[in-house]
Order: sequence, then C-alpha cells, then structure tokens
Amino acid sequence: MRFHQSKSLRSYVALLLVLLLITPFASQSPKAQSQEPGFVDRDVRAQLHQSLLDLTNPFTVLCVAAHPDDEDGSTLTVLRRKYGVHTVSLFSTYGEGGQNAVGPELYEELGVIRARETMAAAEVQGSEPHFLGMRDFGFSKSAEETYRAWGEKEALRRMVLQIRQLRPDAIITNHDTTSGHGHHQATGQLILKAFDAAADPNQFPEQLKQVSVWQPQRLFVRTRGGDSGAPKVEGPPQQFTIDPNEMDPIRGTTYAQQALAGLQKHATQGPWPRSIPANGARPIRYNLVRQMQSAAPLPAGAKSPIDGLVLPETIRAKFAAPTIDNKPLTDFVDNRGELLVSLINARKRGAFSAAKEVVDLDPQRFKLMSLRLDNALATTAQVSLTAETDEPVLVPELKTKVSTTLANNGDAEVQVKRVVIHTFGLDNRIDTADKMLPETETSGHYEVLTPKTASFSVPAAEHLYDGRLFGQPLVVDADLVMDGASFSLSTSIRRDVAPPIEILRVDPGIYVTTPATSQKPLEFNVRLINHTPKEFRGLLRVVGPNLETGREITLAAHSSDNFNVAVKTMPVNRRTQPTSQLAISVDLPIPKNPIHKRNVDLVYANALVAPDLVVGYLPSFDETIADSLEALGVEAKQLSLADITSADLSKFNTIILDNRSYEAHRELIPVNDRLLKYVEDGGTLLVFYHKTNEWNPDERQKRPQLAPYPIVLSDDRVTEEDAPIGILQPRHALLNSPNRITQADFANWIQERGLYFPKDWDSHYTALLTTNDQGEQPLHGGLLVAPYGKGNYIYTSLVWYRQLRAGIPGGYRFFANMISYGKGKTDANKPSAVTTP
Ligand SMILES: [Zn+2]
Repeated sequence: MRFHQSKSLRSYVALLLVLLLITPFASQSPKAQSQEPGFVDRDVRAQLHQSLLDLTNPFTVLCVAAHPDDEDGSTLTVLRRKYGVHTVSLFSTYGEGGQNAVGPELYEELGVIRARETMAAAEVQGSEPHFLGMRDFGFSKSAEETYRAWGEKEALRRMVLQIRQLRPDAIITNHDTTSGHGHHQATGQLILKAFDAAADPNQFPEQLKQVSVWQPQRLFVRTRGGDSGAPKVEGPPQQFTIDPNEMDPIRGTTYAQQALAGLQKHATQGPWPRSIPANGARPIRYNLVRQMQSAAPLPAGAKSPIDGLVLPETIRAKFAAPTIDNKPLTDFVDNRGELLVSLINARKRGAFSAAKEVVDLDPQRFKLMSLRLDNALATTAQVSLTAETDEPVLVPELKTKVSTTLANNGDAEVQVKRVVIHTFGLDNRIDTADKMLPETETSGHYEVLTPKTASFSVPAAEHLYDGRLFGQPLVVDADLVMDGASFSLSTSIRRDVAPPIEILRVDPGIYVTTPATSQKPLEFNVRLINHTPKEFRGLLRVVGPNLETGREITLAAHSSDNFNVAVKTMPVNRRTQPTSQLAISVDLPIPKNPIHKRNVDLVYANALVAPDLVVGYLPSFDETIADSLEALGVEAKQLSLADITSADLSKFNTIILDNRSYEAHRELIPVNDRLLKYVEDGGTLLVFYHKTNEWNPDERQKRPQLAPYPIVLSDDRVTEEDAPIGILQPRHALLNSPNRITQADFANWIQERGLYFPKDWDSHYTALLTTNDQGEQPLHGGLLVAPYGKGNYIYTSLVWYRQLRAGIPGGYRFFANMISYGKGKTDANKPSAVTTP
C-alpha cells in the first residue's frame, strides 16, 4: 500500500511538472513580512484556509477570454475563494495588439508585459492562466477578419488541446458570438465548437497520443440583459448568478474588491476604477448555452456553474473531503494540531487515491486532489520548500548554483526521503539532511550546467510564440514523510537563458532619415550586459551592405553599460535604396564570432519640413514624437506641464499634443486655455487621437470642450490598415506643402487607419480625408483643420504614431506637413499666408 502510494505521489509530481511547464507558477518563496502583524496573520490564515477549502471541491472551471483583462476575474475569485473550485483561464492572445496606458512598449514587447500582468492578476484571483498564443493583430470588427489571421482550424485545434489537457467540468466566457471586438466574437464561436470537438475522437485525433478526449458538462456565456448573439439551450433561460459584493470573512474584503485588485494588475490597459462603487458591483449572470447530455440539471437560483454537478458513482466516494466530527476542516483553521492529525490520517487511509483501474477513470482529478492534499498537509505542518539561483540568468556552458531550502516551522518531525531538481530534461538528487526537527531547516545545492545547445529566451519579445516566453523552468521536488504519511512538495523558478554578453537594447531600433538628416553619421546607443563572472574584452560591430565598422569594448564582470557606435559613411544610397538593414553584434576579438546580434532597419523617408521650424511637444506614453522630429531634423523641445502653464509659447511654430494627452496629463485640462490662446495668437496646435471618454465634454469630470470649436468623438474605428483613403481637398495646403501627399503615402501602413473618429464637428473645420473598412460608410473626420484667431488647430484620429514608430515613409511625410502647416502664417503674421480652399 505504501509502495503504491509513493508511486502515486511520483505521478502527482509528474503532473505538477506538467502544470509547471504549461503554467508559469510563481516561486513559493515566503511572503515578504509586512510591518503590520495582523496583516501577516491574516495572510497566513487565509492561505491555510484556502488549502483546506480546496479539499472540498474536486471540480474545475475554465474561463475563456480573447485578451488579457477579458477574463471574468470576479467569478474566478468567488469560485476559488468561496468554493475552492480549481479555476483555470485560457486566453486566445497575449493582447500585443492593444494599447499601453503606462509605458512605451507596443506589439510583442507589450505582449510580454500583458502576459506577466495576467499572471499577477491570476495570483490575486487564485486561478491558473494558459494561452493559445494566437496573434493579436489589433482591433478587428469581425470574426472573419480574425479567422483570416488566426486560421479557424488552427485556433480550434489549440483550444481543443487545452480543453483535453485541463479537463474542465464547466466553462464560462464573457464573449458571445457576435458582439464587440472580432477576437471576442471568434473566441466566443470557437469555444462553442471546442465544447463538442474536445469530446469527439474524430476531431484532431493526433492529439489523442498525448491526451484523452474530454467532455465538459456545461458551457455558459455571460449575459448583460438584452438579447446577445449567444445561442441558448432550449426552453426558459437557465442561469447562475454571482454576487461579488459578498464579504469574504477570511480575507476581510469583498470578492468584488479582490477582483478589482486583480483587474488593476492589468496596468497597461488602465486606468481602472480605484474602488468599487458605493452601491456595489453589479451581479454577474451567465446563461447556460450547451450541456452534456447526461449532465445534472442546473438548479433554479444556481450560484455557480457547478451547482448540482455530481461525480460518477464509481469514483464519488474517493473524493469525500476529510472532516473532523463531521465538520469541514475549514472550521478548524485555528487548530493546526487537530487539522494535522486529520490530514495525516486522510493520507494514510488513501484519500483521493484508488486502485489503478479506478484512478484511470479520471486520472487528472485524482492527481489534482492528491496535490491539494499534499499542499494542505504542508501548509498545516508549516513545511515549506524554496529554491534560488546565484545568477539571475542561465548562460550556455556556464554553471549556476541552485540552492534549495526545506524549512520546518511546525512542531512535528519531518523525514526527508529525497530532494530532486529537474532541469533541461535531467533529474538530479540534491543532498540534504534526512530529517528535520521542529523549527529547523535543511539546505542543499546543485550546480546546473546550462547545455551549450540551450536556446536563448531573450529578448522576451522574440519568444512570445515559441514557448520560451517565461524562460527555463528549474523544478525542485521533495518527498517527505510525517508520522508515517508520505507527501511531496514542489517549487519551480524560471530563469532566462541568455548569451554571456547580451545586447539589451539598440537605440534607435529603426533608423529613419530624411533629406535633412541623411548626411549625418548614424549613431547607435547600445546597452550591453555581461552575465559572466569575468571581464569581457571584445568588439561591438556594425555590419551592413558595403559596410563593416566597429569598436573595441571592455565590460566588467556582472555589469551593464551603454556604448555608442557610429557609422560615418552611408552604407547605401538612400534615395535609390530606401530600406536596408544593419546588424549590430557583440563579438569576441579573435575569431570574430558573434556572441549576440540584433538587426536594425534603415529607412529613408523623403519628407521635407518648413525651414527654421521650431516645435514643442508634450509626450504621452513613448518617445515616438521626439524620435520622429529628430529624424526630420527639426528643432524641437519637449514641453512640461509647467511650460504650458507659464512659459512663453510664442517661440514655437507648432505644438504637438501626443496621443491621449488629456488622459496622460489630467492637469492639462485646467490650463487648456493657454493652448487655445497660443493658437489664437498665431500658433499651430496639432492634437493626436483621444478616446471618447477622455475627450467629449463631461461636467462630472470637469472637462469642457477642449478644441476651440466643438469636436465630438465616436467609437468608430477603421481597423483595416489598407482601407482606402479618399482625399477630400486635394488642393489644401496641408496636403501639398512642403510634401505633395498622394495615395502612395498611405501604402504599407500597419495595424489600422485610426480610431475614435469624430462624429460631429463645427463648420469651422475642414475635413481633409475619408476612409472606411470594407462594407462600411466612409468616415470623414480622421483629419480636421480649422483656422482660429491667427493660428490653426488640427485634430487627427489617424494612428500616425504607429506609422512613425514603424518607419513608414508616408507617415513621416504627412507628419512633416502637419507640423509645417501655418509656418508661413506665423512668419508673415497674417492669416492669409496659408490658403484654405
Ligand atoms: Zn478584449
């Protein structure tokens, strides 16, 4: 029996390993001690309570979402914190096509951040995140456009595989099949199909070598009243309702407050509400849309997606939660002594285990609950396992010391059977003491040699889709015995695999030049880090067409530094070869052997600006405007709010307010009159896109009309980056000077045309462009310009920043015209200098 048990334990460990490989768990290092003792006690008590509650619920609920932050954090929180449900979430994408409210990162770099935000949110919710890794190519209006990018069958294949691996009893999703973002619609449609396909052995049969078919019992789609596009089961709606306002007596906050704390971890997608409204969060309702034929009926007034579900007779008895005097263990959370006796007895009598033919009926559920019993035992006994490395990254062919510590803070003796580290496909024992008395710990070390062939996981943005996003796992398992009961502990840490000398950053990442700057030497700033314990002497090289240059560098052991490297002569004729590529590498001096390499695109944009132009700009979230003005060779100054409040603005021909300025700098609104006065006195104010709720007048927000003449924004977007552009006023100065704008300037745009297009504007404005997605009405408000006083006001909801950042030449030419507009007027100080048709 004991032998059988420890065999089972081995397989629990194997499962945990699988989970760890799929899901990057946080390491189990002890929580930082808080200053407030009551808080620590509550935290420790809540952790113990959770581990005991988890023994009462053998069901798994999966929440399916298109993007990070689309998950229903409230329901996930209630299911785990109140009912002990095993909660998992599945995201179609990493959200890399979204916006970033807190930093300059976009695209894959944003995806990396959002993946980490999702993990932090999941930790608050008590759920495990998983990702399908479909590409987030930005806002899309239809499932069809989404499928064109994802491949419908490929997305379904991945979703079916995840369902077969995670084996949820119930699935919930916020997404119906027809509303909102095309990624949401597609995700809502795919989960309906995957619900049936996961159980069908004829669907993706190649997966059945790894996993078994799985039929979830119920599928729910959230309803917000009204009739959504979601299909429903026959008959009157069958629903469950979650009230997130309920107080969690263990944590002393409501589930809604906990869910909000989770949501706030998605910081790039903020700003989020700071607190729950006084009248509470709304109840959350889900409609049953699919169920397994033999599923138990959902009771009326259900409060969770698993209400009424029962396990099959054949295994039900094996999942009875341990009790003390027929009371749940959670009643004894303040009596560790009694709990420990009960849990040790549960383990000894084989709770959550059975003969192989019974376990084989539902092996994953047995593994899950045995792991939960291990966790409850260790948490009650106050036995913990931690692991640390002496180096922050792993470098091929170098050794890294992994230290593990087993701590026994309880009052029972613990035998240590063995401690094993698993890395790079190898298992190695770590020597430790063979027993731990109360209040003692035992440590062991192992030197991990990173294989020469180990693949790099840096830079993270290049590993969003290849499974190396979270680095290399180092997993440590400990097999322990306490009072005759065997149990296991496991911990996992992840470390990036990096070259010995890593190029952290090349600035600029895309090098744009224009007629004003094309004769200047190209200068790059390269940030390097030496991950080794030895000083590095080598070369920083730049290699391109007809070009090889570089410099010697020295970088101290375990340090990082910035190096400049310049290319004095042009590698190509920019006019005849407008795009080319340079490679920047760190090399050993002999032989010249690249240790790490990054490529930089060189782009030539034939963009002219008005002579002697002086521009001020207020940046929002990134440096795109500054870099673009530099590429244009314009004299530019970054403005602060203080400058706008009190400096002399008349020296600037043009002032630029970057994307969402009035959101990024809320204090800008009270001093907006200064900007309007600047226009009135002859300046040109260029305002980039804002969201509807950041711009439209709102008394509660103390936000007046921000433009000199009214502009009202809508939520309309043009998401097809190649949507046709109509030029409404071909002779308008803004489209002709200094650069004559043509259709070619709208070629090769990326991601989208624009968003939050104005729907109403005052007749003082001239609309210059029109664009629309396929099958939709043209939108005329993408670029509005009006004279105001002696100056000019330009509002544009086109996504110039994306084009500038990506080095799209047309973006530079148009941007040059916008900042040059009105220059003649300022110089001549007379309104008629610029012709407006
Ligand atoms: Zn979304």
